[in-house]
Amino acid sequence: EAKRAGGARHVMFEASMRERAARRADIEAQLRTALNEEQLFVMYQPVVGLSADGTIDHSAGVEALVRWQHPTRGLVPPFDFIGIAEECGLIDQIGDFVLERACTDFMRWRAQLGDHAPRLMAVNLSRAQLAQPDWTAKVARILEKTAMPAAGLQLEVTESLAAQDEHIQLRLHELKALGIKLALDDFGTGYSSLSSLHLLPVDTVKIDRSFVSKADTSHHHRVLIEATVKVAQSLGMNTVAEGIETAGQLDAVRAQSCAKGQGYFFSRPLVSQALVDWIGAQQGSALPA
Ligand code: C2E
Ligand code: MG
Ligand code: MG
Ligand code: MG
Repeated sequence: EAKRAGGARHVMFEASMRERAARRADIEAQLRTALNEEQLFVMYQPVVGLSADGTIDHSAGVEALVRWQHPTRGLVPPFDFIGIAEECGLIDQIGDFVLERACTDFMRWRAQLGDHAPRLMAVNLSRAQLAQPDWTAKVARILEKTAMPAAGLQLEVTESLAAQDEHIQLRLHELKALGIKLALDDFGTGYSSLSSLHLLPVDTVKIDRSFVSKADTSHHHRVLIEATVKVAQSLGMNTVAEGIETAGQLDAVRAQSCAKGQGYFFSRPLVSQALVDWIGAQQGSALPA
């Protein structure tokens, strides 16, 4: 949670409690307007498949990342409003919007790109979403409405959230029963550890950028990545290295047999059409628009 609030730290750190409360109320009101006036949209960052021979699979998947196009503040990143949306209950609506849009775009790419379309759509979840008793039924309805196959959807939760309580655990098992994949996001930053990984019903472990960014310069971080990949593999889980920014980092995580990678080195998050163009460019051939 401290990390989630991090984006707003420079703004809020010095502010008094009262200023902070006023600011929150202001953002909350603006967020309601944003939902009504369609200022929110979704960007997609490619997640690529890595293999020992250096081949890159550009169609492995994407991660959906919400953005707020604010009329005066410009593009607002999720760290600056997801926490507030969670507190004021707007996260349910935002989450529904992101999930439905992501599934809709995924199916459109399939029609446009065929075999080259991304095979997996990752969508981030908040605690408040998973706490809704009817959440699983809601997800099932969105899948049905968009014709999205459950196996194409990966829902991402953080370590602390996944380990939290019985209700959350139950919800995760319900989602798995629907055929949806689950990923543990930002692994390594929470309090749980490799020894409790087997307790969580997840298919994929996403190794946090704070490890990946030092993969090629710090022996310590490389060892932690290696251990994570080994334990995950032994449990039949996939691994994704988050936040790969350089060729050196890519080489380092590939040397640890990490199955997938994501980061600015491959691509920043893109709007839907730009993602289609990016995949087309990677194939090195013209694709129908
Ligand atoms: P996350 O799920 O760990 O997503 C990855 C974040 O790392 C994204 O930030 C992405 O833009 C950024 N990133 C990817 N590659 C690189 C890189 O090479 N270098 C650097 N410096 N950053 C990289 P973003 O989009 O600002 O999202 C931040 C967090 O906000 C996400 O972290 C996720 O926890 C949350 N979030 C985003 N969209 C949603 C959403 O729709 N719902 C919920 N509940 N949370 C969301
Ligand atoms: Mg994520
Ligand atoms: Mg992450
Ligand atoms: Mg992260």
